[in-house]
Amino acid sequence: MNLKKISDKNLHESTLAAAKKEKLSTLELLRHLAEVQRRVLYAEYGYSTLQKYVMRELGYSEAESWTRIQAMKLIRTSELAEAKIAEGSLSLSNAAEVQKHIQEFNFTMPDKIAETINLATRKSHRELVQELDDQAGREKSEKKIILPKRLLEKMAKLNKLLDAKMTELELIETLLDKEIRECEVRPSRTSQADCVKPTRYLPVRVRRSVMTRANHQCEFRDKNAKRCGERRHLQFDHIKPFALGGDRSEKNLQLLCPAHNQRRMIKTFGARDR
Ligand SMILES: [Zn+2]
Repeated sequence: MNLKKISDKNLHESTLAAAKKEKLSTLELLRHLAEVQRRVLYAEYGYSTLQKYVMRELGYSEAESWTRIQAMKLIRTSELAEAKIAEGSLSLSNAAEVQKHIQEFNFTMPDKIAETINLATRKSHRELVQELDDQAGREKSEKKIILPKRLLEKMAKLNKLLDAKMTELELIETLLDKEIRECEVRPSRTSQADCVKPTRYLPVRVRRSVMTRANHQCEFRDKNAKRCGERRHLQFDHIKPFALGGDRSEKNLQLLCPAHNQRRMIKTFGARDR
């Protein structure tokens, strides 16, 4: 269609139609992302997060992919949101804002979620953010700390030893996760007495040698043998599942990021319904 040659009225109508089409195809994309998420399919293509998949495979910017992923999460929880996106009354950025809000305040009641979605309908993003802020009257629980030079040096040293380029925050989180994981896996004193049945507890020696073999990095390789680069939140995975009688030997263990671990579970035991 040569737009320069059509009448004003036709141009207006055709613009409306194009916008409608765009909204529907956005919704179609969100539905696809929801299914990719349910299957953790991004892991199969070598990504440790859906965000990375959306950025690198689909070519969206960081902000664009964040918005789409948040909106996708919202339509997974609420059919109302899906309907409103389809009719064009709920913008993608408002849907993302709603999702952020209900997650932050842990809304699980359908009424409360619907109320927030209705609040976001036919409103500019700026208006919505203002209203949500007012409504929450929130108090931030963030805490600012100053890291002494000595700590920063230790962090740089650890980065070097791990051959990683983690930020200070990522390093702190990685170390905390590691500690928490070890505490959770370690059997408590009270349960040691009835420790006859097989246990998931992995001896430190085994953990250490798997970690060293993996060089503290997810061991998943995609079809082209490209290895996943994730170094955070790593988990020990039984190659032959523990539930199917797999043992705790180094040979039966691999180090995986949460996405690749979950993807393996899905391939072995199937995906959850939603
Ligand atoms: Zn991975």
